[in-house]
Amino acid sequence: MSLSRRDILKLGGAALIASALSPILRAQSASTPPSIFSRGSRRLPRVALTIDDCHLSYILQRMENTLADNPDMRVTFFPTGEALLSIESKLPGVWKRIAEQGHDIGYHSYSHINPQLFSNQAALEDYDRWREALNKVLSKETRVYFARPPYGNASPSFLNLCGQRGLICTLWSWGWGGADAQDTAAYTMPKTKNGDVVLMHTRSVDAAVFAQGLPWLKSQGKQAVTLRQLYYDFRKEQIDAEGCEVSEANSLTRTCDE
Ligand SMILES: [Zn+2]
Repeated sequence: MSLSRRDILKLGGAALIASALSPILRAQSASTPPSIFSRGSRRLPRVALTIDDCHLSYILQRMENTLADNPDMRVTFFPTGEALLSIESKLPGVWKRIAEQGHDIGYHSYSHINPQLFSNQAALEDYDRWREALNKVLSKETRVYFARPPYGNASPSFLNLCGQRGLICTLWSWGWGGADAQDTAAYTMPKTKNGDVVLMHTRSVDAAVFAQGLPWLKSQGKQAVTLRQLYYDFRKEQIDAEGCEVSEANSLTRTCDE
């Protein structure tokens, strides 16, 4: 890994997360097969809510409204390429608003085909097609950090794609997508742990849980953060643990004794 502990500690603030992640990703793609990211640090009161597929515009609209009511919370969307385009036609500008408000957008295939069916080349072409859709709805080229395989199937071709394109293959450690919103809020949500990557979809039940979940997190002193933030916290903790005292402090400007 090319990013030293001292380098990462010198960086301050969420705005520099992107520059902190880039060398990590370059090192990852150059040498070792990409690892799979499923959860973040258990020490910090942060979780990453992730919303897959995003095919239904009225559900996405409800989630956007919930986010507007909870302006200090950030989430990550994993839309397919087809969903990027179809949602944009029904809710013009929605993806730009989501990106501008600091939420993450990750790759979840163009048309939700099981990655097991893709050759390495087909997986790369699928990603490039998805990127074209993203560039179109955002009207610009944007760095993409995270990739989640449909059906959670991190196939060899999907992992090869992540290595080739510098993406972090991301699964999940918990889910808020139960069959009943009240049951999920009562029994599943309270078991959410620090660092969890929480799986959700654009379903009516999930939108109801989402609307309850963001205020609930706040009431518990927890924050919904982007996958970028959760991953950054996780890598920083790993680097700290390689020889620096790990404290509860959350500062990125402190220094360690060598
Ligand atoms: Zn999916």
